[in-house]
Amino acid sequence: MIKTIECLIIGSGPAGYTAAIYASRANLNPVLVQGIQPGGQLTTTNDVENYPGYPSGVTGPIMMEDFQKQAERFGTKIIFGIVTKVVFSNKKGGIHTVLIDDKDEIKTKTVIIATGASAKYLGLESEKKYMGSGVSACAVCDGFFFKNQDVVVVGGGDSAAEEATYLAKLCNKVYLLIRKNQMRASKIMQKRVFDTKNIEVLFNHETLEVIGDKTVHAIKVMDTQNNTEKMIDATGFFLAIGHSPNTKIFHNQLKMDEVGYLITKPDSSKTNLPGVFASGDAQDSIYRQAITAAGSGCMAALDAERYLAELN
Ligand code: NDP
Repeated sequence: MIKTIECLIIGSGPAGYTAAIYASRANLNPVLVQGIQPGGQLTTTNDVENYPGYPSGVTGPIMMEDFQKQAERFGTKIIFGIVTKVVFSNKKGGIHTVLIDDKDEIKTKTVIIATGASAKYLGLESEKKYMGSGVSACAVCDGFFFKNQDVVVVGGGDSAAEEATYLAKLCNKVYLLIRKNQMRASKIMQKRVFDTKNIEVLFNHETLEVIGDKTVHAIKVMDTQNNTEKMIDATGFFLAIGHSPNTKIFHNQLKMDEVGYLITKPDSSKTNLPGVFASGDAQDSIYRQAITAAGSGCMAALDAERYLAELN
C-alpha cells in the first residue's frame, strides 16, 4: 500500500521508461508499473539498428534493460505487476486510483499511460516458433535482415501495402498474401503495390504453416479459390494484419478512437481527463517506432510536471 504519489507511469516500453527518466529527474518520484511484458514490444526484436545512439546496433532486450537502468538511476521505483483497474478523477487536482494485480492500490496525482500496442498474429504454432528468427510484425525493424531474399507479407490493409513496398526495396521478391479477393488498403497504396515489379499479390490465399529448421525456409499456403495447397520459398514472414492498442482498462473513462487508440489534445499528451497523459503506441497508430514512442514519453512527463506545478 503506497500513499498518494505525484506520478504513476503504466508501461515499460520506450515511452514508459523515457517518461520515467524525465519525471524522476524532475523530482516527481515516479512509480512505474511494468505490465505483462516488461520492456514492451522491443523485447521480441533481435537487433535494433535504427535507434540513434547505438552505432553498432543493439538487441531489443538489452536496449530495454538500458532504458530501465537509466530510469532507476534517477530514482524511479519499478513495480513488476499488471494494472487491473483504474478509477480516474475528472477534476483538476483530483486523485486517481490504480489497482495493481487486483490487490495493491496506488493513489496518484498524475498518470502517464504508456501501455503500448500489440501486433496481431495469425495464431499458428509455427508462427510462434519462428518469432525473431524469420517471423516479424515490423518490416522497418527487421526488413534489413532479409536483404536480397524472398519474403512473404500477410495482410491487405495500408500497413501491409506499406510494409510490402518497403520490403520490395530491400528484398529480391515479396509475396503479398491477401485472404479476400480484394485489398482493403487505400487506392494510392494499392497502386504503389501493383506498380512495384518485385511484389506478387496473391489474392484468396491463407497461411497454413511456417516451415523451417532453425530459421524459416518456406510458407505453406492455401489458395482458397480452388482449395489447393502450395509452398512459397521464403526466409521472412511478415505479419501486417493490424495492431491492438493495450487500452481496454481505460474504456469508458478516456476518449479513444474506434480501434482503441487514446485520443490526445493536439500537440500534447493530454487526454480528456486532467492529470492523465498518454504516450507511445497506445495513442499512436501512425508512426509506432521506438524513437517516436520515447519522444512522446518525454512529452507526457513534461506535461505532467507542468500540470503539477500549476496545482501548487
Ligand atoms: P487494417 O485493419 O486496416 O487491415 C488489416 C488487414 O489484415 C486487412 O486486409 C485484413 O483482411 C487482414 N487480416 C486481418 N486478420 C487477418 C487474418 N487472420 N488473416 C489474414 N489477413 C488478416 O490494419 P492496418 O494495420 O493495415 O491499418 C490500420 C490503420 O492505420 C488503418 O486505418 C490504416 O489506414 C492506417 N494506416 C495508414 C497508413 C498510411 O496512410 N500510410 C499506413 C499504415 C496504416 P480483411 O480485409 O479481409 O479484413
